Amino acid sequence: MEGFNMEIEVKSQKDDEIVFIVRDAEVPFVNAIRRCAMVNVPKIAIEDVNIIRNDSAMFNEVLAHRLGLTPLVSDLDALEGLSLPEDDDWEEYTNGIMFTLKEEGPKVVYSKDLISSDSKIKPVYDTIPLVKLKDNEKLNIESVAKVGYGKDHAKWMPTTVCAYKQYPEITFNDDLEIDYDCASACPRGVLKSDKRSKKIKILDIENCSMCKSCVRASTNGYINVGYRENDFIFRIETDGSMPPKEVLLKACEVLGEKADKFIRFSEEGGSK
Ligand code: SF4
Repeated sequence: MEGFNMEIEVKSQKDDEIVFIVRDAEVPFVNAIRRCAMVNVPKIAIEDVNIIRNDSAMFNEVLAHRLGLTPLVSDLDALEGLSLPEDDDWEEYTNGIMFTLKEEGPKVVYSKDLISSDSKIKPVYDTIPLVKLKDNEKLNIESVAKVGYGKDHAKWMPTTVCAYKQYPEITFNDDLEIDYDCASACPRGVLKSDKRSKKIKILDIENCSMCKSCVRASTNGYINVGYRENDFIFRIETDGSMPPKEVLLKACEVLGEKADKFIRFSEEGGSK
């Protein structure tokens, strides 16, 4: 597209976090990606819980809620072949992954105790405490995990952090006397006074939260903090259920599909 020169640079990437810079983009576009990543990327979570026996002090509803929020492996491999909420057979109890829990106290029941009917789909972390059972207390649960979307429930939201900020910009009024106090006011270590070279150094501009503490601390207005209108620092963290890059790719795919649908709708004269 003419005039569309967006650039993306990955700054860091881990199993559960990706940070990248988007240059030359618009706020609505970046925000649409953010929203799609949060609410339109399919993920697996426990949906139906049948509590056959629960002798613990925890209410059934609370226990079911804890099970629902336990992150389950939901990468592309795990999702393959599973029904999506828009499919006709999604509602069927048998159409999902069965998780059973049969324990007897005294013990703390952890996420690793959930027995899955599919070896690919299991809790991401073994050590999430689910419930504490006292002596002779028993627990017998059957549950079914299904694919869903974050727009329907937070348990299906793969992201724990999905946010962007505009790229910070710090400038100094060189006509004024250097005000070293503004550097020491920064709570994030972005600025450093260097009295020997008579300047304030910017150590890590991308760590600037644009809180403007430095601006307020300066009595003579030596420092200015702003941002670049069309450059963004984007961070995605997941609950471990799927790699953040997969979340991003799926979000872009969903946004593309929505745009295609809109184009088709417009071309057809808005008749459907
Ligand atoms: S705006 Fe806040 S984070 Fe940024 S340099 Fe100033 S004090 Fe530090």
